[in-house]
Amino acid sequence: MTDIDDLYRDVILDHFRNPRNHGRVTDPQISVEGVNPFCGDQIQLTAKVQEGRILDICVEGKGCSISQSSASMMTEALKGRTLARSQELVGQFKRMMLGNASGEDLPEELEDLAALEGVKKYPVRVKCALLAWNTVLEGISEFEKNGTSVVKQHTEE
Ligand code: ZN
Repeated sequence: MTDIDDLYRDVILDHFRNPRNHGRVTDPQISVEGVNPFCGDQIQLTAKVQEGRILDICVEGKGCSISQSSASMMTEALKGRTLARSQELVGQFKRMMLGNASGEDLPEELEDLAALEGVKKYPVRVKCALLAWNTVLEGISEFEKNGTSVVKQHTEE
C-alpha cells in the first residue's frame, strides 16, 4: 500500500509543481473565478469553446497542492472534449470524491485522478479537490444557458 501512496503523492506533487495548461486562454468563452474559503484556494479558469467542444482550457491560481494539482489534472482530462462529455467526467469525478465510486471506476480520461481518492478520508480537503471541477461545471452550465461568453464566480460552500 505504501508504494501506491508514494506513487499517488508523486502524481499530486508533479502537477502541483508543474501545472499543465497553466495561464489564461485569449478571448475565452468561459471565464470563472473559483474560490474555496475553507482553505484559501483560488483559481481563475478560462476556456475556449467552439461547436460544443472545449478547444483549450487553462487554469492559474494559488492554494494547496490538492486544489492546484486537481485543477491541473482536470485541464488535461477536459481539453478537446465536448461539453456534454466534460459534464459527465465531472460527474464521475464527483461520484468518486463524494459517493461510493472508487478510483478503479474512473474512465480512462480520468485515470490520473485516482491519485486523489485518498483525499476522501479528509472531508475538508474534498472541497480543495472539487474546486476546479465545480468551477468548470458552473461555467459550462452558464455558457449553455447563455450561448455566449460568460464571466462568473464560484464559491465552495
Ligand atoms: Zn486547499
